[in-house]
Amino acid sequence: MDSDDILDQIFTDGSFFMIAGPCAVESEEQVVSAARHLSRKGVPILRGGAYKPRTSPEAFQGLGIEGLKLLAKAKEETGMLIVTEVMDLEHINIVSSYSDILQIGSRNCQNFPLLRAAGATGKPVLIKRGFGNTVEEFMHASSYVSKQKNDRIMLVERGIRTFETSMRFTLDVSSVPVLKERVRFPVIVDPSHPAGKARYVKPLALAGVAAGADGLMVEVHPSPQDALSDAEQQLTFQQFDDLQDSVNRLLTAMPRNSVSVPEKN
Ligand code: PEP
Ligand code: MN
Repeated sequence: MDSDDILDQIFTDGSFFMIAGPCAVESEEQVVSAARHLSRKGVPILRGGAYKPRTSPEAFQGLGIEGLKLLAKAKEETGMLIVTEVMDLEHINIVSSYSDILQIGSRNCQNFPLLRAAGATGKPVLIKRGFGNTVEEFMHASSYVSKQKNDRIMLVERGIRTFETSMRFTLDVSSVPVLKERVRFPVIVDPSHPAGKARYVKPLALAGVAAGADGLMVEVHPSPQDALSDAEQQLTFQQFDDLQDSVNRLLTAMPRNSVSVPEKN
């Protein structure tokens, strides 16, 4: 199965799929070992930021082009597809030349020129819901991409700001059935960013799948305690395996096809 077959399955068959990988690309060893583990578990898409949107300008901003090259190496070793964030117009060409799917982050969900430019590349576009955006505003974001004659779009619910502060964000599980009713694109749940802590990732992931999500996007790091960003919420390989087992058990109660990358090594 090559990249196009995997994308076809995702966009045409409505098959369930996982996206997983580190929050940020940090080194060859880190990203390649994560990719190896995840591809052995059948995960078809590797995530990892090379350009990171960080709240503080003092925080690790990502490796930039070097990070994109490391993602390419991980792809070459494993056959996984790559999704990585493009933060501004200036980098649209370089990011789209290294990635199979362009990620628009939560903070850019209403960056209309960026959405248009991402759509115009012709690459699939994964849009994360702005944490201050309604479902309707989120759907308008997807229209900016589809108006560029690009309907290979994935929508990711990643939690919103509410009065509740016990988790990092509030996962809006309700958005899943609403989006599924209103758009024809795959709807994915990112349980990592709302959880903020690794121990909360599994319950949120299962809630998303039970609500009908077409996929999950999960942060996984070979050594989360050493991560340069989002250290507390990234799963170890073992925690990821446990999550995947539970998701698979839940999916047997809610049958659908699933997409996985064939093992390469
Ligand atoms: C990410 O997934 O890398 C990320 C930065 O998440 P968000 O845009 O949802 O905050
Ligand atoms: Mn992160």
